[in-house]
Amino acid sequence: MSFTVAIDGPAAAGKGTLARALAHYFGFAYLDTGLLYRAVGAGVLAGGDPVAVAQTLDPSDLENEALRTQAVAEAASQVAVIAEVRAALVVFQREFARRDGGAVLDGRDIGTVICPQADVKLFVTASPETRAERRFLELDAKGVVTDRAAILAEVRARDARDQGRAEAPLVAAEDATEIDTTDLTAEEAVMQAITIVAERRRTS
Ligand code: C5P
Repeated sequence: MSFTVAIDGPAAAGKGTLARALAHYFGFAYLDTGLLYRAVGAGVLAGGDPVAVAQTLDPSDLENEALRTQAVAEAASQVAVIAEVRAALVVFQREFARRDGGAVLDGRDIGTVICPQADVKLFVTASPETRAERRFLELDAKGVVTDRAAILAEVRARDARDQGRAEAPLVAAEDATEIDTTDLTAEEAVMQAITIVAERRRTS
């Protein structure tokens, strides 16, 4: 039986942490849909045509640490405004969402465009400053030298592009439950998400 959890929200709000925790707790499969756009962005940085790269993407292309860089994130948000790129990635995401045993997908348009019938929709947010600080600490822990102001500027630029685009802009679905993680620990946010999903499973 399928059961779909859709998690949307801006960069570094904690979507991945919640998605992974839910997948682990409930035994769902997990798809980080940002990786699809990052793989296309990386292909473009390597000289490819965005639509052609999106149409020939292979799931094994997603298992690549090189997709985690800021440069690839920026390229991803640029290719993500192209309607043909988004269209090429729809079928894969919808099939993943319908998997037997349940699936959790995180991204920007999961509850609005990819899975409008999802059993649970979460919209995860946090202030730009909090998100930039988390990204800074993450990079710092990896030994990547960067500065806070540059990361905050990048977070704001990506938010503006993701929210302002014509195709599948980042917006909360009307029936999404919002989790603002600004003042929550990761454990508190995870507990909220688990409670919401467990309640829905009980009543579905
Ligand atoms: O989530 P992540 O930061 O990896 O996503 C990289 C970029 O891919 C986002 O800034 C956004 O522009 C795009 N994206 C999207 N739709 C999704 C997931 C990601 O447009 N479902």
